[in-house]
Amino acid sequence: MAKSRFPIVFEKCPYCGCTETITRIAWDEEAEKGRVNKDTPVSAEHLQIPLLDPKKAIPISCGMLLLHIDWCAKCGRRRLAKAEVITSPVGMGPAPGQMGGTTGIIPKGTG
Ligand SMILES: [Zn+2]
Repeated sequence: MAKSRFPIVFEKCPYCGCTETITRIAWDEEAEKGRVNKDTPVSAEHLQIPLLDPKKAIPISCGMLLLHIDWCAKCGRRRLAKAEVITSPVGMGPAPGQMGGTTGIIPKGTG
């Protein structure tokens, strides 16, 4: 297996080179008040892209591209902070205890 290139981390804003993000600054201020843990990774938005091939049978779990998006603290532009690939169960739609549902992909049987 080829070595994964993920996670890909973008330390700096591609527009101005600033390393700080709006969410990080807000989080750190909360941490100083003791409300949150300073070390927790934070980002404003998460974009999840399932790596599912429609030509293949639906698996139990699939790779998920997870993009961490935030705003630059200096120039205010929206930028990608980190991209990683996680493994996620397919069919996350319905809450536990619910059968079926209108969202998400439900695995078909076990065969
Ligand atoms: Zn910037």
